[in-house]
Amino acid sequence: MKILVTGGAGFIGSEFVRQTVTKGYNTVVVDSLTYAGDIERLKEVKDSINFYQVDITDADSLKEVFEREKPAIVVHFAAESHVDRSILDPHSFIKTNIEGTLNLLELSRQYKVQRFINISTDEVYGELGEVGKFKEDSPLCPNSPYSVSKAAQDMLARAYSRTYGLPVITVRPSNNYGQWQYPEKLIPVVIVKALKDEPIPVYGQGLNIREWLYVSDCAEAVIEIMEKGRDGEVYNVASGIEKRNIEVVKSILDLLGKPHTLIEFVKDRPGHDYRYSMDVTKIERELNWKAKTDFETGLKKTVKWYVENIEWVERKIDYLREYWGKVYKN
Ligand code: NAD
Repeated sequence: MKILVTGGAGFIGSEFVRQTVTKGYNTVVVDSLTYAGDIERLKEVKDSINFYQVDITDADSLKEVFEREKPAIVVHFAAESHVDRSILDPHSFIKTNIEGTLNLLELSRQYKVQRFINISTDEVYGELGEVGKFKEDSPLCPNSPYSVSKAAQDMLARAYSRTYGLPVITVRPSNNYGQWQYPEKLIPVVIVKALKDEPIPVYGQGLNIREWLYVSDCAEAVIEIMEKGRDGEVYNVASGIEKRNIEVVKSILDLLGKPHTLIEFVKDRPGHDYRYSMDVTKIERELNWKAKTDFETGLKKTVKWYVENIEWVERKIDYLREYWGKVYKN
């Protein structure tokens, strides 16, 4: 079975590719290598994959890949993925997440792909208060330009399933963390800043709640869904591990033996969703999948990985500093 993976040089996509290669799948990666993409993430499997540096918004180049590779399955991770950047400039989000997805759906229809896995996010459901969980049929109520673009992506995927009969499955994972995550997202920002003894920016009072999923568990769930999920369905993927941002930050500082005085509360993100939480009964019942990694173990592994691979971050530091300067304001 040949799988075409978009965004395979990204954080979650690369973990998925490492796992599909290990499982013996013939894996083709399409990634334009934006600031967030890095081929180094695929170094362990580079001899086992075909890699195309192609932008999914470039329909002609994408068509050449489909013509040459004729994939049986498409797993679509490629995206502009960071909420804060979507607030600074939404345009690339609309282009990649909506137009790019449309190109992929259309080519998948033309080339009679047998399964299209559309990677979405819990953020499409909008925010929750202290209680409740989103189910797969909860209304979509996205609040940021990023989540709006992902909700539109989901609706296009739905239309290709309903209108054209393309075998689409939409997957909605919760917040991922783990090795190789670009240091603009909470956990790697905290680790990197703490390692440098720099102030750690925390939005508002750090009270927002996220549901944390270890990246290897997420990739495993996507493989389960790709192999055994039902066409036309949506599957939530989450761990049940809910934490306030401030708890996560303190746990990292404790693991690194750094003082909590490094924490610096900064002006909150505009429109910051308070809480996300998903009901995962469907994937548990239908596919017998459950997240394996508890938060303490996953966080320890993640911190260890950044300590051991700090030179990877160092190579990106000038770019990161410019970006951090734009988003974290007192
Ligand atoms: P990421 O930003 O680390 O990786 C995205 C990858 O897509 C990069 O390699 C980038 O180069 C590539 N890309 C971006 N625009 C492209 C384009 N126009 N053409 C081709 N390639 C392009 O993202 P991630 O965190 O690995 O997220 C992967 C997917 O999972 C995304 O669809 C995201 O919305 C979704 N998701 C992420 C999380 C999370 O916590 N990280 C949670 C839920 C859902």
